[in-house]
Amino acid sequence: MIEPLSEVPEGAIKMVNGRRLSVTTASVMMVLDDTPENLGIKDYNLFSAGETMDTDKIWEQGKTLGPYKYLTSICLDLANPGATPEGMCQFSITNLPLVQGFLDLKEEDYYDFKRKMAKDMIDEYERVSGINIHDHIVEIEVSTPVTVAHYVGAWKGSIYGYSHSIDDHAIARLQMKEDDHFIDGLEFAGAHAISGNGMGPAVTNGRAAAKAVIDDYTRKEAQR
Ligand SMILES: Cc1cc2nc3c(=O)[nH]c(=O)nc-3n(C[C@H](O)[C@H](O)[C@H](O)COP(=O)(O)OP(=O)(O)OC[C@H]3O[C@@H](n4cnc5c(N)ncnc54)[C@H](O)[C@@H]3O)c2cc1C
Repeated sequence: MIEPLSEVPEGAIKMVNGRRLSVTTASVMMVLDDTPENLGIKDYNLFSAGETMDTDKIWEQGKTLGPYKYLTSICLDLANPGATPEGMCQFSITNLPLVQGFLDLKEEDYYDFKRKMAKDMIDEYERVSGINIHDHIVEIEVSTPVTVAHYVGAWKGSIYGYSHSIDDHAIARLQMKEDDHFIDGLEFAGAHAISGNGMGPAVTNGRAAAKAVIDDYTRKEAQR
């Protein structure tokens, strides 16, 4: 956003490099050839941890290219009837990996990886739920952090901004607010700002950014 790059203060580059990205997304999105009822899909949203509930192990799994066992599925039609043509439904399975595993993925291996990842995720969902998905796929799209980076322009395909940790959390960020403000009139909004990740905090961050810009403008006007 800042051009030329030489206008970006050194401290801002250090801050961005010092922070760790939070999870991103790997999804397989499908249209299935039958209704949720006939397929046996009862839940709009299902979380499954696979073989372990140990969050340290799940976090480590997220640093790899899978196979992912911590999955969440969504059947859109159960929340929004009529979302698909009659007699079909939309169904997706998602894992939230870290970007690490994807950094060494070679271009020539990318499509094979996507096919394998989709198969592994569908297999795992079928294993956990006992529902057959494979034989009902009409359309399928597979997305990875590379897809997010490509279409949204998000840094390394990040969707949840900077990871919250014991050394970089909302309170610490609030305390460092003044020091972490590098360019006059420019505020961080969205998932990469103070409150962190997800849609709710992205809205909160946007509101805070707008308020900061207005406050700054009002202060300067008052000083004139
Ligand atoms: C599959 C998936 C499932 C998710 N599920 C959930 C969930 O259940 N709950 C939840 O809370 N969050 C969820 N999220 C995360 C949530 O969507 C993000 O955290 C949130 O959208 C981030 O908001 P943002 O404003 O930072 O970024 P974005 O929503 O990515 O908005 C950034 C915008 O900037 C635009 N842009 C990029 N570069 C430029 C440029 N140079 N000039 C102009 N515009 C530009 C992009 O096109 C984009 O529209 C999910 C995300 C994904 C991908």
